[in-house]
Amino acid sequence: MNASIQIGGISIAVIWKNINGAQLYVDPPDGSVTLYVPEKTPLESARVYAVKKLGWILVQQEKLRQHIMNTEGLIDIKSDYLWGDRYIMSVLECDARPSVTVGCEEITITVRPGTDHARRRTFIHEWHKKLMDKFISGLIREWEPRLDVKVTAYVLQRMRNRWGNCYHKAGHIFLNTNLVKKPRELTEYVVVHEMIHLIEPTHNQGFVSLITEHFPTWREARARLNDLNLQNDLPLQDEDWRE
Ligand SMILES: [Zn+2]
Repeated sequence: MNASIQIGGISIAVIWKNINGAQLYVDPPDGSVTLYVPEKTPLESARVYAVKKLGWILVQQEKLRQHIMNTEGLIDIKSDYLWGDRYIMSVLECDARPSVTVGCEEITITVRPGTDHARRRTFIHEWHKKLMDKFISGLIREWEPRLDVKVTAYVLQRMRNRWGNCYHKAGHIFLNTNLVKKPRELTEYVVVHEMIHLIEPTHNQGFVSLITEHFPTWREARARLNDLNLQNDLPLQDEDWRE
């Protein structure tokens, strides 16, 4: 369910989600405001919360305006996630080697002048792959002896409608690079899930027993994976097995 409320001349989109506490975001480039509230929260409570946060909203909007005005070479700005945390991601043109800097709340990406949208996207994707690769290789090394399986190869790639996949005969696992936006423990769940498919290819009772034994919080992890309000995310599933 969605609604919109007006407070002090500011329009706030209210979205009810399966979350524990309210989350308030001021998004670039225009400073639009979104308030996520737990399901069953009355609209009036959402309004009271937003009124209390009005000062904070105004400060964030002003910070954003200043940032956009004062950042030389800025060509793109949006909110994005990295390992479950939300950042303001700015893309700047700069006549130097392309780079990525991750700060407390900001990610700054520089590209050479004239780099088009597709090449920027590729650069960001390659950076995500590098981050994932480091994390995933460690996870696989850790989980291979625990599960007594061997991953002969893993592939990190864009996937449209699944978090992971497994070709158990070849011992290959495939992971969605969008997992880099999720908390690490959720990526670990997907990796363990796919590695268990090396033992049991289908989601049968044996599979459920194994995942429950090795990753007891899997149901919660699965629900969170599909529930985090990540912008521009497709409603992905972890149901990943295709013969
Ligand atoms: Zn599966």
